[in-house]
Amino acid sequence: MRRKKKLGQHFLKDQNVIDKLVKHISPSIGDEIIEIGPGDGAMTKSIINKVSKIIMIEKDSDLINNLCDILADYPGSRLINDDILKYDLNQLQNPMRFIGNLPYNISTEIIFKMCDCKNVIDMHFMLQKEVVDRLVSEPNSKVYGRLSVMAQAYFDIHKLFDISENVFSPKPKVKSSFVRLEPKKNVFDSKHHETIFYDIVKSAFETRRKMIRTSLSSYLKDDDFLALKIEDKLRAENLTVNNFLQISEYVQEI
Ligand code: SAH
Repeated sequence: MRRKKKLGQHFLKDQNVIDKLVKHISPSIGDEIIEIGPGDGAMTKSIINKVSKIIMIEKDSDLINNLCDILADYPGSRLINDDILKYDLNQLQNPMRFIGNLPYNISTEIIFKMCDCKNVIDMHFMLQKEVVDRLVSEPNSKVYGRLSVMAQAYFDIHKLFDISENVFSPKPKVKSSFVRLEPKKNVFDSKHHETIFYDIVKSAFETRRKMIRTSLSSYLKDDDFLALKIEDKLRAENLTVNNFLQISEYVQEI
């Protein structure tokens, strides 16, 4: 079957690599797994007999029959034929472990969506290396941006290893990395604080070349920067994740 480029279809072909991924995921009986974009089930097949349940979310209807065959022996597991970006993950009640060789064209949108998802135990994702570099980057780096701040606020992130493009079919144009994300607990004391944090990070990076006194002027005046002890001539890329948390906490209280 022809692979669909617009669905980011690059299927894993190398069993040694799949085994290595599974080893790092370290599945155990009792785990409930959500697999995003199972494709032809390469990862699924290597993990399904090691856990209690897999829920697969796959957009491409042409892949469904094959995935149903894999599920036939595992009545507890199921397949959802839907778009991960449209599916309401919070309707799933139990704590879940997420895995996936993600469609790279929407991988950052998926990470943003995961920030909103409750009941996550951990996530193991294959992503383009460039996105993983952004996920783990520190302030003052060229690739430090909105994705870095949002993801690092919500998750502890560990890059596990890089993966050669040769283990996929068809071969992607970019390099890949495997990454683990684990939700941090109690980052925000209220939904209000969380919303303000989201808005402030977005505003700051929308004009990342501007000083924060300008990009955040609708939230903070000169005195506020003094009270916060944050230099108002800095740019978004100079602020730490904690600075953003501190600013949003302060704004919430004004
Ligand atoms: N996990 C498989 C395939 C990865 S390729 C493997 O490792 O071999 C990415 C997969 O995500 C494809 O199966 C593609 O059809 C699916 N996909 C693409 N966009 C999607 C979306 N919005 N929601 C759910 N699945 C999607």
